[in-house]
Amino acid sequence: MRKIDKEVEPATLALWKRQNRTLRYKDLPPQESRAIRSSCITEQYGLCAYCCQSITLDDAHNEHVEAQDRAPNRTLDYSNIVASCNRKHQCGHGRGTHQLPLTPLMVECETELKFYLSGLVTGHTERARVSIETLSLGHTEESNRGLVGRRKAMVDTLIYGQELRPEDLQHEDEELLGLLLEVFQTPEAGKPLQPFSPVLANVIRHFLTPA
Ligand SMILES: [Zn+2]
Repeated sequence: MRKIDKEVEPATLALWKRQNRTLRYKDLPPQESRAIRSSCITEQYGLCAYCCQSITLDDAHNEHVEAQDRAPNRTLDYSNIVASCNRKHQCGHGRGTHQLPLTPLMVECETELKFYLSGLVTGHTERARVSIETLSLGHTEESNRGLVGRRKAMVDTLIYGQELRPEDLQHEDEELLGLLLEVFQTPEAGKPLQPFSPVLANVIRHFLTPA
């Protein structure tokens, strides 16, 4: 996960809310729903809020971080909505309405999860472990073989793109790791991030400050 900084809600949503005060998210017309999704995808630099794979307007959904049935008064609260991929059995469709104790709206989501070059992920804290399992983010190969495999392959590709080999990463000096961290955690203005680049940033951060 990468921390998401929520901005102001889309103007079209604000207007609709003013005109339809008694209604809820389920009453929202497609145009406003799409406007929410589009804004979220921009805020998330084109990546799923949970697994960090690329998403578009047509293969993602609006995801209520606090599930709608648990927080019925927040269903139209833009600060409670992110964009999730539509993959089965993981991310938004995997957690259903289960609670997430650690979310991409919390800055700790970048430090309490630990990613490995193997593609696996573990949690430093109990709440991180619960969120990883609830979202099926791949704490074991068996739990989500597809995601773990894609994550490993893409992280390898990102490293090769820097003319390095994955196995060399842990022997590199702090200066180079610091530079690499900048590359993978900082989006270029207006451009989407490469899929899984927050994962590689997390791996590098752990080499810099082993925990
Ligand atoms: Zn996802």
